[in-house]
Amino acid sequence: MDKEYDVIIIGGGPTGMAAGLYASRGRRKTILFEKAVSGGQIATTSIVENYPGFPEGVDGYELGQMMEEQARKYGTEVVAAEVTAIELDGHDRIVKTTEGDVTAPVVIVSSGAEHRKLGVEGEARLTGYGVSYCATCDGAFFKDQVVAVIGGGDAALDEGLFLTRYASEVIVIHRRDQLRASKILQERAFATPNMRFIWDTVVEEIIGENKVSSLRLRNIKTDQQCSLDVAGVFIYIGLVPNTQFLAGIADIDNGGHVRVNLWMETGVPGIYVAGDARAEAARQVVSAAGDGATAAIAADKYLNELHEELKRTVGASQRT
Ligand code: NAP
Repeated sequence: MDKEYDVIIIGGGPTGMAAGLYASRGRRKTILFEKAVSGGQIATTSIVENYPGFPEGVDGYELGQMMEEQARKYGTEVVAAEVTAIELDGHDRIVKTTEGDVTAPVVIVSSGAEHRKLGVEGEARLTGYGVSYCATCDGAFFKDQVVAVIGGGDAALDEGLFLTRYASEVIVIHRRDQLRASKILQERAFATPNMRFIWDTVVEEIIGENKVSSLRLRNIKTDQQCSLDVAGVFIYIGLVPNTQFLAGIADIDNGGHVRVNLWMETGVPGIYVAGDARAEAARQVVSAAGDGATAAIAADKYLNELHEELKRTVGASQRT
């Protein structure tokens, strides 16, 4: 890893990899930091069925790896490290990471989002002992057992459907009586014999001594409580953006998403936020990749303008 780059990318999901691909094909010296696995959220998705070009769907982990290979092919340096802070010094943006500091005029933040926690008793203590946020990682541990999925969005149904391959029964617990998920996933879920739904219900507590044994549920319409025996609980109640290191730098909304314009510009020259970390995103793999490409194109224009500006400044100082 060098000290100076043209473009620093934070996050190696589809947004970051697309940004890396475009920046390095533009012959910008580009480094990308990823703290976990390339691919971001898709790395733990069984099959991605809505990314154009793959009519049969594509394994999420493999798609992430292919995106990395393509970005690397054109010169993006991919480094395993966590970003802890960004500092501004004139035109320089200093990115502090667990592997050291690097500087560039451009930072593209594509740090995505993490699974939201329920925040109920038992959740933290039993994570890894029956509480999971990743069906593809942990589903096989629940062969022929009953598991619950919490949430009513695309992730809950997608991952719940994956779990029906292993579990004897998958019980989706949703706080309303209508799902948020796309219609095609709803149709599939309703037609799956070992998937059923508990409506208008929230989890009050996850119970178990050393591993999950049951859930305490509450119907929000009747306020009645009941217990449900399950061996596992998979929580898919949305995402929280990873934007902590932009506090005090960018304009962040109440949900933690950074407000940007159509070119992913934050208003701070050279700092772009794209993909799930930005406000108003469609939060799909295809739009995430599009965001990354857009940010890299905008950044390339900015670097050209900055270069011209610096040339003019040097010329003026030489004349005086
Ligand atoms: P989401 O679309 O925000 O859905 C979150 C679900 O959790 C909602 O049904 C919500 O209920 C429920 N929820 C939120 N907070 C809760 C709480 N405290 N207690 C109980 N339930 C709660 O999140 P997501 O499913 O993770 O998806 C995130 C984004 O990724 C979406 O844009 C989605 O389209 C995309 N995605 C797409 C695919 C796909 O296309 N196959 C797969 C995965 C994700 P309400 O409905 O009542 O708000």
